[in-house]
Amino acid sequence: MTTLTWPSGTTSAASLTFDVDAESVWLAMDPDNAERPGVLSQGRYGPLVGLPLILDLLAEKDVRATFFIPGVNVSLYPEAVEAIIRGGHEVGLHGYTHTRPSRLSPEDERSELERSFDELTAAGGTVVGYRAPGWDVSAQTLDLLEEKGLLYASNFMDDIAPYRHPGRRLVELPVQWILDDWPHFGWHTGDSARTIKGTREVEEIWSEELEGIHRYGGSTILTMHPQVTGRPSRVALLGRMIDRMQDLGNVWIATCAEIAALADAQLPR
Ligand code: ZN
Repeated sequence: MTTLTWPSGTTSAASLTFDVDAESVWLAMDPDNAERPGVLSQGRYGPLVGLPLILDLLAEKDVRATFFIPGVNVSLYPEAVEAIIRGGHEVGLHGYTHTRPSRLSPEDERSELERSFDELTAAGGTVVGYRAPGWDVSAQTLDLLEEKGLLYASNFMDDIAPYRHPGRRLVELPVQWILDDWPHFGWHTGDSARTIKGTREVEEIWSEELEGIHRYGGSTILTMHPQVTGRPSRVALLGRMIDRMQDLGNVWIATCAEIAALADAQLPR
């Protein structure tokens, strides 16, 4: 890993990120879910209830976060997008239909990127970053992002600190399933192989990883979903995680765009 110099005496960075998937994740998982209003209601909870609870908490803690929004949700949930931008948060790209780029034709991947960029920008967002649905990029994704002039992507799991993709300007803000809410809390009917973990267990997992990355001077990119972390017990967990970051005293809590800009200024081309 490359050690970066974080701002004003901080020794690591952390970013709270939210993928505002709503129903799109369920529809991309199985098109038949279009005929299952109960299944889709899980997704709708995200922008309608979970997101406002999360935005209130972030305002109370005075923390800015990054929200990756599938293009389809810009017109389906304009109030959600407006509230995110009004709160001073960053918005980023997350596909259009939430189809994984690895499963799209090259033409469809390009048009999804163009369309979601245009719609999010038209909604008032300043867009510099991209996260693929399921973090599952295609062989051409990095070329498309570079061509679009984006500053960063947040999909790969091969480091604990930002790095520059070889031969490109594009900065990567690496993620990992351990710091995602879905593997710990996600569950749906018929998913008998899994159980929902309690917030105390996940708090321990996330805290140990945060403190470990902090020790090495890296970046903790926490990946959450309003339909998962927006449940009341988990909003409380998020509050405790922010407290822990603030209590460490020297963690730079920033948006992905801020972290990527700092990395871009320091990493060799
Ligand atoms: Zn997603």
